[in-house]
Amino acid sequence: MDRANIESIIRENGYDDFKWISGKDVVVSQWPRFKCMYGCSSYGKKGTCPPSVPSVTECREFFCEYEHIAVIHFQKKLNKPEDRKEFSRKTNAKLLKLERAAFLAGHQKAFLLFMDECRMCEDCPGSRSECKNLQLSRPCPEGLGVDVFATVRKLGFPIEVLTDYKQAMNRYSFLMVE
Ligand code: SF4
Repeated sequence: MDRANIESIIRENGYDDFKWISGKDVVVSQWPRFKCMYGCSSYGKKGTCPPSVPSVTECREFFCEYEHIAVIHFQKKLNKPEDRKEFSRKTNAKLLKLERAAFLAGHQKAFLLFMDECRMCEDCPGSRSECKNLQLSRPCPEGLGVDVFATVRKLGFPIEVLTDYKQAMNRYSFLMVE
């Protein structure tokens, strides 16, 4: 695959801070899934979050089918916690345009992972079968069992556990192409 071409597309869509990783180097573990199941308030309330996702084993196989994954970095400080929803919704909606541009450029396997859980709709029915916007919904890396901490640290990207919402978040979207 010609990375120069897809890199141009990524930059044309407004993203300059990204690095490449191979799917086999993405760290997929059970612990993110267990964190989703026990402790996350979105469990069972999003059509793209557990349990409306494939098994961890299937997710690992899925990542291994991609040799080229652009990990796109977003850093954001919020004024108040309530702002996260709108920030995520707008950012994820814009990211879908990147997936489409990659697909139309001939990358038939182009698949995008949101940089946060799907927040496309005000009220999510909470299951894949009832999703109100099937064509626009995508999972996030964590929802697919990705250990985002271990994966992005391999690339030298920043990520830390935050203790206060006023600290800058480091979020990551994956554009998977072939
Ligand atoms: S598109 Fe809407 S209904 Fe579907 S998973 Fe996302 S928030 Fe839920």
